[in-house]
Amino acid sequence: MDLQGKVAIVTGAGSGIGKASALLFAQHGAKVIASDITGKQDDTAAQNPDAITAVQADVSKEADVQMLVAKAVERHGKLDVFFANAGISGGFDGIFDQTVEEWERILAINLIGPFLAIKHAGKVMADAGNGGSIICTASVAGLRSGAGGPAYTASKAGVINLVRIAAQQLTGSDVRCNAICPGLIETGMTEFIYTKAREKGFEDKIGQLNPMQRGGIPSEIAEAALFLASDRSSYVNGHALVVDGGLTSSHPYARQRFGQTAT
Ligand code: NAD
Repeated sequence: MDLQGKVAIVTGAGSGIGKASALLFAQHGAKVIASDITGKQDDTAAQNPDAITAVQADVSKEADVQMLVAKAVERHGKLDVFFANAGISGGFDGIFDQTVEEWERILAINLIGPFLAIKHAGKVMADAGNGGSIICTASVAGLRSGAGGPAYTASKAGVINLVRIAAQQLTGSDVRCNAICPGLIETGMTEFIYTKAREKGFEDKIGQLNPMQRGGIPSEIAEAALFLASDRSSYVNGHALVVDGGLTSSHPYARQRFGQTAT
């Protein structure tokens, strides 16, 4: 029960990593606000209605993020954890074929979303004076090129440096701010990769670019989020925690052994 007595907001909680995290946080004693833009957060909350409240919100809209933070405080009296996890992929064409609209759409959700979370949750947590933990989902795509489209890659690199500056700005508040960099995880976002690989009979090649030779599952990222959310990570701050089965630890030439399949 690593989060007993804590109040947490999880965005993108209708699917994949966010859903697994909301459920795991609740299982570990937290009261959770599970939020998504789609309405799928209701299904997540229905799995543990005593601990999880569903709230629909768009992380790229400042009023929605403010509303989420206010809801947590109104309902549970405080806020301890904000997991800014919602994100989208897209824009897989090369830079020459990208539009400004596509970049704005991706940056608004993937980078401005975490900025708004830090801005509003960080302020409430710092003012309350009881510390806290803000976690943002970045990606291995933010560490190296080739694991996502150009705007996605740039947005995730932005998140990694955003948590560093946020950690500095939260100096003295005991509010920590960290990122998680997942490798390839089977979720709604990557369904097309898995579907294509299955269709082509390449399923066993998925994830073979990392030393564990498999893709990850949402609960493996949720466990990392639980660590960062809990007091067990009390001295981890301004850090980007890579959870990728060792993908980014290997030399890119290792890819040539297996051919390019996914991430
Ligand atoms: P997912 O598609 O299963 O879940 C993402 C959720 O975010 C969805 O439920 C979606 O409705 C929600 N969402 C999208 N736009 C939103 C908005 N504007 N406001 C609120 N919610 C919104 O995908 P996932 O893989 O679980 O993605 C979670 C995070 O993990 C994302 O930030 C993604 O970039 C990151 N990530 C995923 C992988 C992977 O391989 N799956 C790898 C690295 C990083």
